[in-house]
Amino acid sequence: MSEGIIPKDKDYLKLSKATSGYLEIPYFVNSELDRGYFCNNCLYFINKDDCAIVKKQGPDVQGKESGIIARHGVCTLWYPDETKTF
Ligand code: SF4
Repeated sequence: MSEGIIPKDKDYLKLSKATSGYLEIPYFVNSELDRGYFCNNCLYFINKDDCAIVKKQGPDVQGKESGIIARHGVCTLWYPDETKTF
């Protein structure tokens, strides 16, 4: 699991949501998030609502600000957490 691979106590330099291509599609909020291209299954997803390489704050590519990295979000830097995806 990424929680064990990526230290959570580092002050990483991060990309903005807009630069990373991040967005949240509300239709997927109640989906089975353990499969597919969601932040929930990304290697960089940490602390249940954060990302090791993308900032939580600021507008996404649709100009929306949620203040979190959502489990059902995704960006162009998605990389599989192979302990979750299959
Ligand atoms: S998909 Fe993008 S924003 Fe989501 S956890 Fe992965 S790198 Fe971070």
